[in-house]
Amino acid sequence: MYQYSDFPWPESVTEEFPSHRQVAAYLDAYARHFGVLSCVRFGHRVVGMEYHGIGEQAMAAWEEWAGNDQAFGSGAGEWRLSVADADGHVETHKADFVVLCIGMFSGVPDIPTFPAGKGPEVFDGQVIHSMDYAKMGTSKAKEMIRGKRVTVVGYMKSALDIATECAEVNGTAHPCTMVRWAFYKLADSYYSIPMKKHGMVPDHSLFHALAAAIICVTPKDHYKRLEEGSIMLKKYKTFSFCKEGVLVEGEPLPVKSDVVIFGTGFKGDEKIKDMFTSEYFRNVAIGSESTTVPLYSFRLLNVAAMQKDVLEWEKYMKRYCGRYFRRSSIMIMNTWYNDQLCRDMGCNPWRKKGFFSELFEVYGPGDYANLLSNSKSKEH
Ligand SMILES: Cc1cc2nc3c(=O)[nH]c(=O)nc-3n(C[C@H](O)[C@H](O)[C@H](O)COP(=O)(O)OP(=O)(O)OC[C@H]3O[C@@H](n4cnc5c(N)ncnc54)[C@H](O)[C@@H]3O)c2cc1C
Repeated sequence: MYQYSDFPWPESVTEEFPSHRQVAAYLDAYARHFGVLSCVRFGHRVVGMEYHGIGEQAMAAWEEWAGNDQAFGSGAGEWRLSVADADGHVETHKADFVVLCIGMFSGVPDIPTFPAGKGPEVFDGQVIHSMDYAKMGTSKAKEMIRGKRVTVVGYMKSALDIATECAEVNGTAHPCTMVRWAFYKLADSYYSIPMKKHGMVPDHSLFHALAAAIICVTPKDHYKRLEEGSIMLKKYKTFSFCKEGVLVEGEPLPVKSDVVIFGTGFKGDEKIKDMFTSEYFRNVAIGSESTTVPLYSFRLLNVAAMQKDVLEWEKYMKRYCGRYFRRSSIMIMNTWYNDQLCRDMGCNPWRKKGFFSELFEVYGPGDYANLLSNSKSKEH
């Protein structure tokens, strides 16, 4: 369990994995304690942002970041943000600098596409995405699934949580069927006997799964529910819809369903792209399918050096995450990322006490304690 260094968890929370309600209450208490809420304008949405004052061609020709190597540029340009309230009234806000913290896992659902006549349109039941399920709130969502044959598509956090809720509500009388892509995996499927039994052994390394954040903690009693039959699993390489439910490739009979819930994730990059009005920024922001998006750099270099840096990041993201490189995260301690971060912060990336320790000892969080107290730039 993590906590803010200046705001401990209440003593009542002792669980290693607090529930989402406990986490939400903790974050809420933090925000209230430090007066964060009064700085937020709730119920408003940025529906577009544009850069004014400098043409795109001029920007594309810049050799230095912002034309002069300064984060805020020459002052000739500014961002204009269109901000809509709940009634759709739009105001324009101006800013020199915008930090996008709009999240990857919300907003734009990632729903598979189907050939004509094989998608949700031919199904007699209800089809929703996990995002809509979450928006309903607990009691309405429970009412919707009560006594229904629910099929959940996907096998990551949202899908597992929803299937668990279905199992709690409907038990074995109306089992919840999880249909999952044949190559999905959970962290523990690498090692655990129950998951081997249920055919969950993945086709790639745990390291790739960690680096691309495609792992999650199995909900409590997940295997018990599989054993008792309140959750059923079906693997698919392709699946489609029919009148009665979901047709899994290679199976003669459909998975009869009243409700199908897609726990298939979100299109985080689309969401970032949609923030920008101009095509130029849309393309800059998300790159192409085969490239990565730059993460961050504190000390700004000239544009050519930054582009080189981005390609270097990309090389490591592809090495660590394989085909999932566009999901690359810094969740695990990849020494290369940490070295890069140290350099950006003007700190020495060599954290050990001697040459042999550098060569043979494992790096851990303790090596980065008091990072700023002895900062000295030293490349290696
Ligand atoms: C089911 C589920 C379980 C997860 N479990 C974990 C977990 O256990 N541990 C973990 O570390 N992570 C988990 N995650 C990932 C989690 O999303 C992130 O860790 C965390 O929420 C990211 O925080 P964030 O501030 O970047 O984005 P978010 O929490 O998504 O916050 C983004 C904010 O931006 C706002 N916003 C978006 N677009 C606009 C716009 N156009 N205008 C104005 N505001 C906008 C949103 O309303 C939201 O308030 C989980 C995600 C899901 C979906």
